[in-house]
Amino acid sequence: MINNLQNMLLISQQEPLLEVPEAMVEIVQKTAEVASTSPATNLGYLIAAVLFILGIKGMTHPRTAVRGNFLGALGMLIAVLVVLGGGRVSWSLVIVGMLIGTAGGVWLANKVQMTQMPQLVALFNGFGGIASVLVAGAEILRGTAAGCDPKVAGFAAGLTGLIGSVTFTGSLVAAGKLHELPQFKQPWTFGGQQWVVAALLVVGLLFCWGMTDGGGEYLPLVVLAFALGVLLVMPIGGADMPVVIALLNSYSGLAAAAAGFVIGNNVLIIAGSLVGASGLILTNIMCKAMNRSLGNVLFAKFESSGAVADADEVYAGKIKKTSPDEVAMMLDGVQRVVIVPGYGLAVAQAQHAVRELANLLETGGVAVEYAIHPVAGRMPGHMNVLLAEADVPYDQLKGMDEINPTFAQCDVAIVIGANDVVNPVAETDPGSPIAGMPILKVGEARTVIMIKRSLSPGFAGIPNPLFAADNCLMLFGDGKQALVDLIAAFKEN
Ligand code: NDP
Repeated sequence: MINNLQNMLLISQQEPLLEVPEAMVEIVQKTAEVASTSPATNLGYLIAAVLFILGIKGMTHPRTAVRGNFLGALGMLIAVLVVLGGGRVSWSLVIVGMLIGTAGGVWLANKVQMTQMPQLVALFNGFGGIASVLVAGAEILRGTAAGCDPKVAGFAAGLTGLIGSVTFTGSLVAAGKLHELPQFKQPWTFGGQQWVVAALLVVGLLFCWGMTDGGGEYLPLVVLAFALGVLLVMPIGGADMPVVIALLNSYSGLAAAAAGFVIGNNVLIIAGSLVGASGLILTNIMCKAMNRSLGNVLFAKFESSGAVADADEVYAGKIKKTSPDEVAMMLDGVQRVVIVPGYGLAVAQAQHAVRELANLLETGGVAVEYAIHPVAGRMPGHMNVLLAEADVPYDQLKGMDEINPTFAQCDVAIVIGANDVVNPVAETDPGSPIAGMPILKVGEARTVIMIKRSLSPGFAGIPNPLFAADNCLMLFGDGKQALVDLIAAFKEN
């Protein structure tokens, strides 16, 4: 939310790019200096900044998340109003921008399905990056840097161009991967790629340094950084994608903060830094959850990830199908059931059906818990959001470390549309794209019911030997329909 509103702020800050008489530019610049230093403006920014921090604090717990979201939005509204009231903006451009943005937003909201939200969020990150690039570019075109030391502003403009452009193309590639476009799906590398990336990075930083003397290398820098963004994200796939998504989110904030130095706007520096810092914290959490270091994510995939096992070999003659009636009978008289949601739950929109099944089981005295893997789905917190939508009590959601030691005491684990996050190959095959990723150890439950439509792989594109395990039964079908049938059969029992 803060990210998207921050883009609005960036856009509302943008200076007119049209030719205007010099006297008018001078008046605008003078007003800008006054506006950026006036106590009322700074007080408004301070209030906005405090609200952002309270907002983020509120979002650390589901109970306070709605209030946190509101406080963050209120902070952004105040920031935008202060900027608009500061006399720096061209109203006609702001209104045209808002109309175009609103039209685009409404079109996207109608067109994009719920399951495509992750790629949309990736695109929004990219838009944040390119907005910063354009703001810094506009400032360079004007040849001014309001309220800042010119050397600092020049360097900051360079950093904005570098980080913002990497964010833009990196996010486009990430969105392509999340959309599972064939051109982007497989990690893509070539010999010596890491050297090319390192060289582009060094040259990019040299360009930034060159801009401290007001040099005009902005455009080549942006082009170079576009290439860098593609080269950084194309080789990444499998279990590393969540880390990259969090990192790109952080980059979009850092680019905005750098743009704040370029235009001398305190609240942009603060909002950008908050997004940058929280993105880095999320990146760190994701790295820990995936048992990866950041360097490993960004550079390890430059080497071949090894051959993928043949699905026929893994499954041939070992798959046991089951039916809703059979599962309903199995659930009769059990004591503990663990539900394991994954991306397929989001595709099927089966969250309400899951809750209904859990209610039925609980009414019969069964203890029900939900096992949440940190990267289940396609966005950080994806499963938490879905289950919250169905009012699943938060204390029933158990993290991986908490639930894993208890699977041995679980009568039935019902896996709904999860695949990679329960794939034991992560622990057994060092050449697999999910090697080293901690998994939910559902295989230790007495019985595993796997609800999915087919034997197709998950995001990482690899077979899952769990499907062929002795204690695993496959309930083939759409997640929601399978649950509806299961509930009906359970009620009949
Ligand atoms: P997976 O992508 O591994 O598997 C999802 C499974 O859901 C598929 O095998 C599919 O099988 C099944 N499915 C799809 N539609 C339906 C449906 N309508 N009904 C029932 N099942 C369905 O999901 P996981 O959650 O296990 O793992 C997440 C993966 O995504 C990890 O590899 C992670 O690294 C990656 N990722 C996660 C991000 C995050 O931030 N959380 C971001 C980017 C990537 P079938 O087609 O047979 O039904």
